Amino acid sequence: MANFRTHFGVASLGGGLAAQAGWQVSLWSGWQALAVAALVAFGGILPDIDADHSQAVRLIFHILAVAAIVLAVLILQQRLTPAGLFAVCGGLYLGVRYVASALFARFTVHRGLWHSLLAAAISGLSTTAISFTLLDQPERLAWIHGLALTLGFLIHLTLDELYSVDLTGARLKRSFGTALKPIDWHAPGGSLMLLLASTHLLSWLPSLAVLRQLLDQSLSLWR
Ligand SMILES: [Zn+2]
Repeated sequence: MANFRTHFGVASLGGGLAAQAGWQVSLWSGWQALAVAALVAFGGILPDIDADHSQAVRLIFHILAVAAIVLAVLILQQRLTPAGLFAVCGGLYLGVRYVASALFARFTVHRGLWHSLLAAAISGLSTTAISFTLLDQPERLAWIHGLALTLGFLIHLTLDELYSVDLTGARLKRSFGTALKPIDWHAPGGSLMLLLASTHLLSWLPSLAVLRQLLDQSLSLWR
């Protein structure tokens, strides 16, 4: 299993390269490239949200808590007094950083549900939905944000798989096949619940035609 530094290093490198390549072919502007790089890097550590007590978990929940505060300020600043906003932000930070992180530690198994292609897709769709609906980003950019997070997530799962192969003897370690899997076969119920919960995302997403157009454009540039 790859460690935190490897995950963060490789995903940051991948994010930097993707952001630079897209900027050069005018898929996005310089400022948007920074967001792409950051989202790929964050996606590259996100699957280890299920590893109890790891350095990655503390950092992930810290970033999620800060992101929740930024969202709350953007959405509620017109509706609350400064004191009310301060109380909400404090509550949100404690709630995400400590309560949500404790719940995650209690109910997830390392390299279970969160190390799967299903989780990669749902995390990407959630990012697109937040970017489009809560942050009012244009449809195309919202899809780019979701794809960037998914790319980082996939880099993580691939690295976990590569590290489970003993390269010297080409022998497969026991953890082979536990990261890059479509769903968590040991707990299909959890995967099904995640899938059902994610159907709520559908009404929050931008148009699929915009995604198709973006993918077509990226593929033709690649060729
Ligand atoms: Zn992992």
